[in-house]
Amino acid sequence: MPTFVIAGASLAGAKAAETLRDEGFDGDIVLLGSELERPYERPPLSKGYLLGNDSRDSVYVHAADWYADHHVDLVPGVTVTAIDRGTATVTTSGPAGDAELSYDKLLLATGASPRRLDFPGSDREEVLYLRTIADSERLREAFQPGTRVVVAGAGWIGLETTAAARSAGCPVTVLEPQPGALHDQLGPELGAVFAALHRAHGVEFRFGERAVEFRPGMVITSRGAEIPADIFVVGIGAAPNDQLAARAGLEVANGVLTDAALRTSDVNIFAAGDVANSFNPLLGRRVRVEHWANALNGGPAAARSMLGQSVSYDRVPYFFSDQYDLGMECAGLPEPGRYDQILYRGDPATLEFIAFWLSGGAVIAGMNVNVWDVNDDIQSLIRSARHIDPARLTNPDIPLTDV
Ligand SMILES: Cc1cc2nc3c(=O)[nH]c(=O)nc-3n(C[C@H](O)[C@H](O)[C@H](O)COP(=O)(O)OP(=O)(O)OC[C@H]3O[C@@H](n4cnc5c(N)ncnc54)[C@H](O)[C@@H]3O)c2cc1C
Repeated sequence: MPTFVIAGASLAGAKAAETLRDEGFDGDIVLLGSELERPYERPPLSKGYLLGNDSRDSVYVHAADWYADHHVDLVPGVTVTAIDRGTATVTTSGPAGDAELSYDKLLLATGASPRRLDFPGSDREEVLYLRTIADSERLREAFQPGTRVVVAGAGWIGLETTAAARSAGCPVTVLEPQPGALHDQLGPELGAVFAALHRAHGVEFRFGERAVEFRPGMVITSRGAEIPADIFVVGIGAAPNDQLAARAGLEVANGVLTDAALRTSDVNIFAAGDVANSFNPLLGRRVRVEHWANALNGGPAAARSMLGQSVSYDRVPYFFSDQYDLGMECAGLPEPGRYDQILYRGDPATLEFIAFWLSGGAVIAGMNVNVWDVNDDIQSLIRSARHIDPARLTNPDIPLTDV
């Protein structure tokens, strides 16, 4: 009976296990995870769960009895510490000590970890990160009316956390070394829309400025400013958990390198989710996508590949966010330097619009803000890679399917 081992028990890993069973695999599936929780989804941790609107039960990928019911051996609290590719075994470390486990196929779904700050005071207990359920609960407890919050980073995590803190009645200052919010994710034009949204909710931004020290009650910035802070939330990005793969001699560069079938440089080892830097045939390049949908779809794609099916993982990257009353979905990768034009359907000032990023006349990314049921059509536009008539694209009377 073959054994498929999955390192990392979160969304990508749990969805891979589900697909293996759905596809009829009747060998052993061992799902190993460092965390003590069973697999859960992280988006609520900076939104509904942090705000206290979502229950704990709602964040889990599967019901507690799903794993036993589907003969998936979920082992929480156990970390894979080494891979021996010669003998096809992994070494694990957990409460019962070290152990070895043989695999026929191995999936790396080890995700990413928050980048950490390292300066005087950065190890104090008031300095908080957000990746796990426990982190989210700790923040929720800290966000009391009047608690002064400083946030490092105007990326997605930083801004969603800022919205939650403001909703809880905390004054918030955001420090961001880049010239604007979401600069690397959306570029300056749409970043400005999000900065305006937060300013309208009373948030102070300090762009071009970073934290250099934390002292009890204050953050010191690179410009020498002393900003009152009861807590300091760090949201400066995440790094792939690819050290295990690197130690095993797999090809690693900003994540575990895979082909379009999510196969690593070892034919028996696969990678999916935040840790994978995979060749996307649609984009014609490798991308490491740290988004929920990539874990949701990448885990199953890797599972099919492990079963020997022909897989070409060519999804349009997709992301969503909720901040205050703004809900949005974004398809494609609108990074600065990759687009030469932005067109709008609707007025961004109304916070009900669609933005399109174009390159050479073709749509490469699109974001619907408080407009729903259009993201599939935006993805079709991106897939088509055709030159688009700007007048038709921006005309709200023409359905996107007819553009
Ligand atoms: C607070 C927050 C909010 C987010 N909001 C959004 C959102 O709104 N929209 C969106 O698209 N995306 C969002 N994301 C991103 C999304 O959650 C991630 O892309 C997704 O969680 C990736 O899933 P994964 O399974 O690849 O990795 P992870 O979720 O990182 O899970 C990897 C798991 O592997 C474990 N692990 C690591 N190394 C080992 C090892 N050696 N052995 C065993 N286990 C190991 C880790 O402990 C972890 O449990 C958010 C992320 C966070 C943190």
